[in-house]
Amino acid sequence: MTQKNERTLVIIPGDGIGPEIIGQASRVVEWFDRHRGLGLDIKERQLGVNVYEKHGTLLQDETLETIQAADATLFGAIGGDGYDDIPRHVRVETGLLSVRRKLAMFANIRPVVAFDALANATSLKPEVVRGTNMIILRELNGGLYFGEPRGVEEIGDGNRRGVNSMVYTTPEIRRVARVGFELAKQRGGHLTSVDKANALEVGQLWREEVMKLGAEEFPDIPLSHLYVDNAMMQVVRDPKQFDVVVTENTFGDIMSDCAAAIAGSLGMLPSASLSDPDEDGNRQAFYEPIHGCAPDIAGQNIANPVGTILSFAMALRHTFNRPEDADLLEQAVGNTLAAGTRTADIAADVTETVSTTGMGDAILDNLDRLAT
Ligand code: NAD
Repeated sequence: MTQKNERTLVIIPGDGIGPEIIGQASRVVEWFDRHRGLGLDIKERQLGVNVYEKHGTLLQDETLETIQAADATLFGAIGGDGYDDIPRHVRVETGLLSVRRKLAMFANIRPVVAFDALANATSLKPEVVRGTNMIILRELNGGLYFGEPRGVEEIGDGNRRGVNSMVYTTPEIRRVARVGFELAKQRGGHLTSVDKANALEVGQLWREEVMKLGAEEFPDIPLSHLYVDNAMMQVVRDPKQFDVVVTENTFGDIMSDCAAAIAGSLGMLPSASLSDPDEDGNRQAFYEPIHGCAPDIAGQNIANPVGTILSFAMALRHTFNRPEDADLLEQAVGNTLAAGTRTADIAADVTETVSTTGMGDAILDNLDRLAT
């Protein structure tokens, strides 16, 4: 049985741009530890293709135990060169998806906030994105990514058959929907449940269970439903109509990448993956940007570290109970962007860009300014 340490943060760079973006997020973590007395016990570990190359597994048992015993993990990204060549069972059993599932982190909170300063840096009209402040709550432990049966089989004559199954049970739907209702309640907002109830039986079940839970436990929270195809269109047509969206694993994955267009870049969006609290009130918590390891730009010091840095702001809010510090960090990021500091991916309206390190420098400068 693993013991929970006091305020332990595990930092895992991962693959591709992971070490670069985590490098800047680590500087921010150290800033808060030094200036705001977080008293963190920071442990560095690794996960991903870099681990597979040395140990034949993506995740060592000791790393999983360290994550499990910690208060929170801050992670970069996994994947890239060599990932697809790793045997499927190794990816399924030791990859990122398995960590999320083994630690029962079923609630993946993905805030989508449009910073005013970036309204002209997106491919959407400024008036469409300005003021967007929504959460996509992605179910993370079930659905199409985990359902059985799954696999690829030979069916003769040189042909093969690939199968994945979208599977949900009543408890799985209710526990994530409950998080969605609670988030909407905290924000004084409303919940939109996204499914494909018109074509999929599992979607029909999803909708019925969300409606039942709403009627039983959250009768005052306005609830609406959208089919996922329409929801995907609405999120770029009029994102301000949304407050909290709860949806299936794959739908949430796709919808949040699409919603990154609102924030200006995939590099802008943070996330938190949380379990239910245990008997002592502790949750498993994993904080990471929503993007992957971006092999096309890895090693060039040009990746945007903001999504990773904002993921630490989520850790301050959801794990370390430091809402003022989370506000401070978000304010420092806002000020940095307002001053025109841009990595290449959000550079649309400026002529000069900064490196990954340059963005980290600017955010730290703004933290120093706000703290004095
Ligand atoms: P990706 O998110 O890595 O990249 C998509 C595009 O966004 C690329 O053009 C990339 O350069 C850009 N981008 C991503 N993050 C950025 C940042 N911080 N700053 C600037 N630009 C950024 O997705 P992909 O290319 O589909 O996948 C690459 C690898 O990452 C694959 O092996 C995939 O399996 C893996 N992946 C991992 C995760 C994860 O670790 N959570 C998530 C998605 C994909």
